[in-house]
Amino acid sequence: MVDIVVIGAGPAGLSAAVNAVTRGKSVRVFSNRDNYLSKAERVDNHLGFYNMSGKELMDKFRDHAEAMNIRVEEGKVVNILPMGESFMVNINGEIEEAKKVILSMGVSKVKEIPGEANLLGSGVSYCATCDGMLYRGKNAVVWDQSKDAVEEANYLQSIGVNVTFVSRNPHSEELSKDIQYVFGTLTQVIGDDVVKAVKAGEETIPTDAVFMLRDAVAPASLIDGLKMDGNFISVDRYMETNIDGVYAAGDITGKPLQLSKAVSEGLIAAQHAAVEIDKIKEN
Ligand SMILES: Cc1cc2nc3c(=O)[nH]c(=O)nc-3n(C[C@H](O)[C@H](O)[C@H](O)COP(=O)(O)OP(=O)(O)OC[C@H]3O[C@@H](n4cnc5c(N)ncnc54)[C@H](O)[C@@H]3O)c2cc1C
Repeated sequence: MVDIVVIGAGPAGLSAAVNAVTRGKSVRVFSNRDNYLSKAERVDNHLGFYNMSGKELMDKFRDHAEAMNIRVEEGKVVNILPMGESFMVNINGEIEEAKKVILSMGVSKVKEIPGEANLLGSGVSYCATCDGMLYRGKNAVVWDQSKDAVEEANYLQSIGVNVTFVSRNPHSEELSKDIQYVFGTLTQVIGDDVVKAVKAGEETIPTDAVFMLRDAVAPASLIDGLKMDGNFISVDRYMETNIDGVYAAGDITGKPLQLSKAVSEGLIAAQHAAVEIDKIKEN
């Protein structure tokens, strides 16, 4: 078990990790793609770093973390399960137990489709490696929205799932010949208690499961009962969410969507998490 799992390695997550380590806590940081700051041509408002590109800044942040032996591990966090005193964090099928979790996934770009949220866990899945075995011998639709989608569809087919691949990308040569390819995008998940079908434009595809393979997961889908304020996670002044032991920092908590705020919130979240961990040790 680690003290703190940090999800997302943008400025907020790296700041949280650096401050957790400064406080003597063990930390694992997971992130699944490059962050938004790297796209900024020029950043002038982060104190002490005048006239730098976003990429230059991110390189400096990563170097700082690396110098403190913080390794950013590639992986998408798909689910967090509260276990009383700790959390089980599911990183694409790998489970890590943590005393505290810091959510620093940046602004949420996930637009859920009708039927998705209420059938999550009842046929809707965000992780082929985690849930694939449940659908062996059954039908599953894979919705292509990330660079790994073809690989994950092939994996599902290889373990005996009958896969239909829905995508707006041209038919990939790498997609298994046994997988049916449908050009399009999903608009609805159909079913009352379990998934029965999905709609791709005008077409209805009967299925037992649908794998939504996006780069991001909507925060409220990551952990049950997380309190949101519109698209942002509600936090108190210690960056703690309504779920004891789960913190949020950076763009994910709301405006201003700015670097310095993200860095500060990462610090506050990590320091408070560390204080709370120390309290448990003292008791
Ligand atoms: C073009 C552009 C220009 C900008 N210019 C400025 C500027 O001049 N000044 C300024 O202050 N701000 C600027 N910003 C805003 C700044 O980049 C953000 O405020 C800052 O990056 C927020 O940091 P963050 O750590 O909260 O989120 P992000 O930087 O978005 O990082 C979040 C990370 O979490 C990862 N992630 C998401 N979901 C998961 C998951 N389920 N599992 C694992 N990892 C996950 C993402 O891949 C990403 O790497 C600019 C942004 C853009 C796009």
